[in-house]
Amino acid sequence: MIYIHVPFCERKCNYCAFNSKVSDAAERSAYVEALIREINLRADDSTVETIYIGGGTPTTLKLAELEKILYAVRKAFNVDERAELTIEANPGTVDGNYLRGLKSLGFNRLSLGVQSFDDELLKTLGRIHDSRAAIETVEHAKIFFANVSVDLMYGLPNQTLEHLRRDLERVKALDVEHVSIYGLELEEGTKFFELKNQLALPDEDTCADMYDLITQTLPRFGYRRYEVSNFARKGFESRHNVGYWTGKSYHGFGAGAHSFDGALRTSNVRDVATYIKGSEPIIEEIVTRQAAMEEFCFLGLRMTVGISAQTFHKKFGASIFDVFGAVIAENHQRGLLEVDGDRIYLTTRGLALGNEVFADFLL
Ligand code: SF4
Repeated sequence: MIYIHVPFCERKCNYCAFNSKVSDAAERSAYVEALIREINLRADDSTVETIYIGGGTPTTLKLAELEKILYAVRKAFNVDERAELTIEANPGTVDGNYLRGLKSLGFNRLSLGVQSFDDELLKTLGRIHDSRAAIETVEHAKIFFANVSVDLMYGLPNQTLEHLRRDLERVKALDVEHVSIYGLELEEGTKFFELKNQLALPDEDTCADMYDLITQTLPRFGYRRYEVSNFARKGFESRHNVGYWTGKSYHGFGAGAHSFDGALRTSNVRDVATYIKGSEPIIEEIVTRQAAMEEFCFLGLRMTVGISAQTFHKKFGASIFDVFGAVIAENHQRGLLEVDGDRIYLTTRGLALGNEVFADFLL
């Protein structure tokens, strides 16, 4: 698995705490060179089954720059011919020609940061696109890609259940294959965080109703929930993200990107200028057996299929019930966790309170 971070955006959105910034062409070009240098340095003969280019807004790069990056990856690694190649894009940064170009480079999955189809909400969020651009981009994307994902948000200032209902209806009408949907979080360093007392945020009950609306409506529209925040038509689950949740190792390239080789977790420097100059990855964590067991549980439980007791045993040579028996029993008693033969998974209520359950697995 390979993740490549492109930390550039046309404008910073009001809620965004991601590692992204406004840039000029010279900085983007220098960054691409630095990326290629890093990819070459870390080349090995491993087989790559998924590549995910995220950001930021990767589509702020020219097609020729993306081509250079993919060329370097294909040279440095053994990219499987059936690999899933995802790129994130934002409405307002891509047109038909660009989308066609992405397809010809080999991308086969497009993840579009739509967030909402409502003009007022988009303005509040500080997005560069309006609803019409979002709809047109999805429609264009559907011409070139058989696997299109849309990101939506809920719990937004001035957002009502009716807004959300319309967004979900729109997703259905556009007939995309995959939907990721996130509740707004006010994170330090964002404009929303500064203005938090002035934002007309929906109250807790309304947010809970929004959550119920999402989790009930999308499955009715044919999108199976396969993870806390992700819904997909059958066969269109993100292979890359499932890889993270099932503990696969990955290379992360670019500013702030993380890597995991099965034992060691490292991260690159976040600052773009420092990254361009060149710097060694920092060791974040040596993953102990205990940490790996915890991770197996709290990452795996994010998925609706949950975790397998047998797989745990194979991996760690111990019974999951010996290690986490008390946590499993307690969450089962609270109606948050179900045990069915080999499988252990969160109930619908457990998925809503996922973070509480995940925290319990940190022994
Ligand atoms: S487009 Fe995405 S990454 Fe860029 S500023 Fe907006 S939310 Fe952040």
